[in-house]
Amino acid sequence: MNMSDPGCIFCKIVSRDITTEFVAETSNTLAFRDIAPLADVHLLVIPKQHHRDVLELAKNAPSILGELMNTAANLANTYTNGSFKLQFNTGAEAGQTVCHAHAHVLADNVKDAS
Ligand code: 5GP
Ligand code: ZN
Repeated sequence: MNMSDPGCIFCKIVSRDITTEFVAETSNTLAFRDIAPLADVHLLVIPKQHHRDVLELAKNAPSILGELMNTAANLANTYTNGSFKLQFNTGAEAGQTVCHAHAHVLADNVKDAS
């Protein structure tokens, strides 16, 4: 299986060919802010391996999907007050524009740091 796609924008983020500030990194996942945020908190969590969408990730690397969910939960705890959306757009008709599996963490609240 090909674990990286040279034409994929998120693979270029994984390889650091595109510079992005990361908000989390684990062995198999990365997280960063969406370049065009649709909410006060809008983070993306991706596997480092290239899988087309969350269904392919679930089929080919379920343990990495579990790790991705754990990363998303940690970010939700850090960046939101506990109310958030976790969204996997899957397929063009559902609005998927980047064909590298990713979860959106969306919240219209930012955790009160006080
Ligand atoms: P999708 O629509 O495929 O579910 O989500 C892809 C998301 O990736 C979009 O919300 C888009 O704004 C974001 N995105 C696309 N290219 C880049 C990029 O180069 N850097 C970052 N940080 N986000 C990106
Ligand atoms: Zn990719």
